[in-house]
Amino acid sequence: MSAIDLPARASKDFDAKLAATRALLQRAAAEFTPLTQASSLGAEDVVITHLINSLELDIPVFVLDTGMLHGETLDLLERTRASSRAPVNVYRPVQESVVHFVGREGKDAMYRSIELRKACCHIRKVEPLERALAGQRAWITGLRREQSAARAEVPAIDRSEEAANGRAKINPLADWTWGDVWHYIQQNAVDYNPLHDQFYPSIGCAPCTRAISLGEDFRAGRWWWEDEAAKECGLHVKPENEEASA
Ligand code: SF4
Repeated sequence: MSAIDLPARASKDFDAKLAATRALLQRAAAEFTPLTQASSLGAEDVVITHLINSLELDIPVFVLDTGMLHGETLDLLERTRASSRAPVNVYRPVQESVVHFVGREGKDAMYRSIELRKACCHIRKVEPLERALAGQRAWITGLRREQSAARAEVPAIDRSEEAANGRAKINPLADWTWGDVWHYIQQNAVDYNPLHDQFYPSIGCAPCTRAISLGEDFRAGRWWWEDEAAKECGLHVKPENEEASA
């Protein structure tokens, strides 16, 4: 069974949502310069990249290659780089920092404490993200309200961090359901990560991602050994409450 078989049922107002998403991307491309898309190559992100390409928008895409991604994700990255009209840039951690951390704490340090997990995330994700976003006026993410309680208030254009870092966050799929995402993938034959076919709704680093069972929360497969409240690694952290996650 493919990931499409179960959830590819669109909302009744899907066509209106899609039109609003297209309009938002066009508006963002005109209003925010420079602008970039952050892609984890998950289902939401491949939809956004497909939209950027089909609308012929000049919005480059970036991917964080943490050095711990699944082979399936790396294969999709190569296929995306080969097929995308928009440039796909890859940011990697500082090798010296990785070697130092793994030498000191071991390669499985993330399971020993939340602090060590966050330290690994900082080296492999947060610091490369800072480099990817340096000088950007805005960035596009695949955040959806449905993904978790912490994301229930995600706006289409989030200006809450503009005063602090000068950057807005554009969330073109904020009101899309999981069914909408898979409907779009099906309708447009979008290439996607085959791990979704093995019940990975949310795909991150290999040591920190597992498949989920039917009925489990979407993000139950990420950092599953930790309490719900601790699940953040800094990619979508709000300065005031530090509750959002990557
Ligand atoms: S998700 Fe896991 S492997 Fe990836 S950076 Fe964070 S702790 Fe390290």
